[in-house]
Order: sequence, then C-alpha cells, then structure tokens
Amino acid sequence: MRKDRECILHTAEEIVHIRRAAELTAQVRDALPKACVPGMSTLELDEIAGCLIARTGGKSAFLGYGGFPGNICISVNEEVVHGIGRADRILNEGDIVSVDVGVAIDGGVGDSALTFVVGDVEVSAEVSHLLSVTRHALNQGLAQCRMNNRICDVSRAIEREGNRGGLGIVRDYVGHGCGTHLHEPPEVPNFFCGSPGPLLRPGMVLAVEPMFTLGTWKVKTDRINNWTVRTADGKWAAHFEHMVLITETEPEILTWPKTTC
Ligand code: MG
Ligand code: MG
Repeated sequence: MRKDRECILHTAEEIVHIRRAAELTAQVRDALPKACVPGMSTLELDEIAGCLIARTGGKSAFLGYGGFPGNICISVNEEVVHGIGRADRILNEGDIVSVDVGVAIDGGVGDSALTFVVGDVEVSAEVSHLLSVTRHALNQGLAQCRMNNRICDVSRAIEREGNRGGLGIVRDYVGHGCGTHLHEPPEVPNFFCGSPGPLLRPGMVLAVEPMFTLGTWKVKTDRINNWTVRTADGKWAAHFEHMVLITETEPEILTWPKTTC
C-alpha cells in the first residue's frame, strides 16, 4: 500500500484480496432481496445476512465498526443509511429497503449497497423514478472512474443525474476509498464540493454511493440509537453503492453481480 495525503494506491497483492472481499460482498448483497419477504422483521433480515456472511468464510466489516451493532445496515423508506435491524420493525409489501453490506476477509474489505422493493408489488411512479435515477447516477459516476480523471468528475456526473431527476442529493454522507480498510481516503462526494479533488490513479479503489431522496437533501440522525440517518422531511430515500478499481484502461467494478450464494 502506498499512502499519501490524498489517496491510497493498493498493491497487486492487496488487490487480489480486495477483489475477493468485494465479490463475496456482492453475493451476500444480491441474496438479500430474494430472502426478504413481507412480514419479516429487519432483525430477521440482519440475521440472514449474518449467516450468509459467515458462510463466505469472512466477517462483517460493519459489526462493531465504531460500535455499530448490526451485521449489515438496513434502512427502510425514509431511512437513508445506517439503519439497524430491529425485531419490532416489520417489513410490509411496497416498502423500500436499502441494504448496505461489507465482507472482510484475508485483509480485503468489501462495501456495497442497493435499494429494493419488498414483495411482488408495483410501486408508485415516484418511487420507481427514485430507484432508477439513483441506480443510473451510480453507473454514470462509475463511468468517470478512469485514470487521470479527478474525484470531481465522479461527483459531477452523479450530481447531474440527481438534479436532472429532480431528487434531493444527500450531502452529509459521501463515498470513499475502500480496500484494506472500510473507509480510506479520499472522500467521494455526490455533488461538486468546490475543489477538483485527487487525481484518479491505477490501484485506487473507490466506493461510489449516491444517496438520493424524494424531497430535501437534509438528514437527521436518530437521537436514541445515534446511528440511523433519516430524511429531515420524512420523504423516501434510495442508496446504491459499488466498489471500483481504477486501472490503466476501463474501470473494474469489483462488486458487479456475478454469482449468488
Ligand atoms: Mg456501504
Ligand atoms: Mg461505503
């Protein structure tokens, strides 16, 4: 690992482990929408995720991180990020659930999220728009993850899609470097923050993660558990996240779906 003030360049050996952790993270992430049924509590979903993570041979990268009590983050409807599984939070058909998953194994760390609809039900045009625009913004951001671009190119691409879709762009939480630690420099904002940011170089691994809302960009943190982040106006939010390796050619999306558990 080569570290400077702005970013971390991972070695080829580290990248082998990061690639594996990211692949396992994606497998667990993609198994969760299938495992989630109406009537289930978010605690049950967290326990399923815990079993799936254990089955990979790795560990949850989130459990115990800064004291976080869950295996994964489960954020429902107006919850944006950092939701905690609860026995009394029952999922209903038509709810939207953001699952954020991290698997750590052999020195590599994965981090990936998606938002899905609970049950086999058609959601409103508004919610469908929220999900598709946020997913598209992530893809547009990933497309900018090329050598000699800068972080601001990723940020601007995401912000453009959010603005075009008329959605709130959460500012208080941002993407980040990732790889041998869950959070590494640099930050990857989902909006242009006024500076170009670091140059993208081969060996950098970024977790790109737009969080968009149907209303305000403003959020508040739960005063009791000090974790769960909700929209300030109660409007629903979506969150999609992939890890990407900067290479000398095309971006390599490390958490792209491949196989399932
Ligand atoms: Mg994440
Ligand atoms: Mg992340």
